[in-house]
Amino acid sequence: MGRLTNREGAALLREQVQNAERGDTLTRDMIRHLNDIHSMELPTDLDIERLLLEDEKMALESDTSHLKFAKGLVTFSPSGASKCRRELFYKACHIDGDPQTFYPYQRRQMRNGSAVHAATQKDLLYAEKYLTKSKFTVVRTKAGRPAWEKNIRQVRQFEHQGVLFQIYGMMDGVLKYTPDATKLGLEFKTKSTTISSIGSFKMKDAQDSHKQQCVGYSLLFGIREFLIVYESLAKDSWTKNEAAKPDLRAFYVEVSDRQREALLDKYAEVAQARYNGEVLPAEFDKCIFCTYKSHCEGVA
Ligand code: SF4
Repeated sequence: MGRLTNREGAALLREQVQNAERGDTLTRDMIRHLNDIHSMELPTDLDIERLLLEDEKMALESDTSHLKFAKGLVTFSPSGASKCRRELFYKACHIDGDPQTFYPYQRRQMRNGSAVHAATQKDLLYAEKYLTKSKFTVVRTKAGRPAWEKNIRQVRQFEHQGVLFQIYGMMDGVLKYTPDATKLGLEFKTKSTTISSIGSFKMKDAQDSHKQQCVGYSLLFGIREFLIVYESLAKDSWTKNEAAKPDLRAFYVEVSDRQREALLDKYAEVAQARYNGEVLPAEFDKCIFCTYKSHCEGVA
């Protein structure tokens, strides 16, 4: 029994080392990929620009007729995977959240984040075409569209612990890692405050909420491996040149069965509460961005 335990322990350790090595390779290759394309003078590629304009037009038209939503089921979004159960319950009840006030600088932060997000997707298309040995390519849908955003949005029904619910969402991208042809999910995030917010001192790992989001995507899209890339919109001094602090970080996430199961448990609990009309307990450590504070007050 002891020998078996030792053997299992050794196998687990070996697996952890292999995962860490794979994570190091993928994150290093992704940062290099983006830095390499941002080191080049690029032509305006009309094929890529046209593809992106078509994408924008299709996103505006936003045809959802092909999505197979099941009526009456509670719907969850991967982006809310880490949220408080009570908040998810309110959302499942379609309760309107509190009105939100944004200051102009906050709206500019959001607008800058969206713009860099779109620019990075464009960079990925240029990179796969113009880097001589591109290690990442953007997967295409059956219709030939880049596998991201509304091009891949989908809804999937689940029955877990006897409870029915569905997950609906879209991702920042599905990439192929060309050395071994594996499919990876890409999640791109921006940070707007200071460059040190993504430095190795302040950021030891990807944010837990972002890792949870990947677990949700894993359930929806069946992908196990993810790269979460953070870009600081604050940059080091222009004159620092090669001594400038890094403004990009990447983290590797491999979603386990246990993580999938835990998220399914959570979704089933919230869905069951919604069907029974029972408010779930509060999780007061998750209130900061919650828009249901006025509904929550006074509910034990
Ligand atoms: S205010 Fe806090 S405890 Fe209440 S629903 Fe929101 S996150 Fe949960």
